[in-house]
Amino acid sequence: MDVDEFRKAAKAAIDQIADYHESVPSRRVLADVEPGYLRPLLPASAPLDPEPFEAIAADVHAKIMPGITHWSSPGFMAFFACTSSYPAAIAEMWSNAFNGAHFNWICSPAVTELEAVVMDWLAEMVALPPCFLTRAPSLGGGVIHGSASEALLTVMVAARDRFLAAKTAHLPDGADEKEDETCRLRGRLVALGSAGAHSSTKKAAQVLGVRFATVPVDEDHGFAMQGPDLARTLDDLAARGLEPFYLTATLGTTDVCAVDDFPGIIDALAPRVGTPADVWVHVDAAYAGSALVLDENKPLAAPVAHFHSFNFNPHKWLLTTFDCSALWVRSRADLVSSLSIKPPYLRNQMSDDGLVTDYRDWQIPLGRRFRSLKLWFVLRAYGVSGLQAHVRRGVVLAESLEAKLRSRPDLFSIFTPARFALVTLRVRARDEATVNARTEQLYDAINAGGAFYLTSTVIGAKFAIRVSTSVAAVRDEHVDKLFGLLVEGAEKIIKAGEE
Ligand code: PLP
Repeated sequence: MDVDEFRKAAKAAIDQIADYHESVPSRRVLADVEPGYLRPLLPASAPLDPEPFEAIAADVHAKIMPGITHWSSPGFMAFFACTSSYPAAIAEMWSNAFNGAHFNWICSPAVTELEAVVMDWLAEMVALPPCFLTRAPSLGGGVIHGSASEALLTVMVAARDRFLAAKTAHLPDGADEKEDETCRLRGRLVALGSAGAHSSTKKAAQVLGVRFATVPVDEDHGFAMQGPDLARTLDDLAARGLEPFYLTATLGTTDVCAVDDFPGIIDALAPRVGTPADVWVHVDAAYAGSALVLDENKPLAAPVAHFHSFNFNPHKWLLTTFDCSALWVRSRADLVSSLSIKPPYLRNQMSDDGLVTDYRDWQIPLGRRFRSLKLWFVLRAYGVSGLQAHVRRGVVLAESLEAKLRSRPDLFSIFTPARFALVTLRVRARDEATVNARTEQLYDAINAGGAFYLTSTVIGAKFAIRVSTSVAAVRDEHVDKLFGLLVEGAEKIIKAGEE
């Protein structure tokens, strides 16, 4: 393809993509294909000779589109949203044009410098304490990763190394006894997360080869981790001679959007602060962090000043096209000292002179995408007020669904009330087993209908339907339609049970 063919094909693609966006609301949300549907439609091996681009473009419609689940559909109320926008899409085209691995400042100075600026903008938008800013006098900083799981793994590595360094600081560097003690401690390390923490904490512990322990959550406190439960877990671990070094605290758990008890966590960990046993606390706000753009939620960010790192995904609720996961640390030195390796082939004068940030030292991979561009486009094209309006709409829609569900206490119970555009519900019945069975039946029926895609959760053996209203296209009419289907389905199921 030469540049003239590129102009023609790319312009045609933009038109087709715009048509696709317009068509999404009328499409079935979930792909309606069987596993393995694609292989028989494609040749067994790659074409030996070039194919005309028209043929490739045509196959997007014929072969790929049927296997697409439409995440931007107003009927997509599953998981958490993965929102996009036209400004982000255009930025991705530019990012693609500036294609490169961008690991050091010198690889494209604008890539690094824009990231530092927009991460400060974003930190201030979500009211993060100033210690997380990149600009002086802060010692912290922000970096964009591809996913919350990757961000969490990265800080867990830094937490481990910081903990081991503090615990062995009394031993001389390079001495065998220091290495022996480090190795002994490694076998005792424990990463902690609540029972509601996302599975990425357990996975990171698995990758690092450290133990993972769960702190219970409290149903009476909306399934949030409470300080006293953390204190008890720490005592139990200490009694077993184990070394807790890391904790994930969650702002907006995946199943029900619970917010852990930050003041209680601060109290439980206070005796360790300033000692070698200090536990690194990472706040995982992967989804709900976007809600901190609303003034009423900003106080939730204040206690984060006591913790070590904070992460949320603008690609979830802030219109910034996957992938864009924003991570801040209070001490950038902790990341760099853990992750910086300087082979001769990566060295350059700017880095050697310490004049620049090289984000390769703030992440696990070497190469990195130009992700800050889409964040910059989105922040400018919407402004803070536009993003607040978008987030608020999702919140209000979930509240309105909750009110509708409450208007039919004969059919539904609210499992957890609307929080950050997520509400969870169950179908009424006399006993728990029947509640579970009916709720699961209703859930299956709604998803089979094709107009909506919902997901579910199970906490303490209780099955609940999750409805997430944070997709940008969701409006009152969609919530009304879903409510109508929920009522119709629940009435049918309850009636069938009585017959
Ligand atoms: N943390 C929480 C609270 C989440 O809800 C999710 C995903 O929904 C994740 C982490 C994982 O996000 P990612 O896919 O960016 O790794």
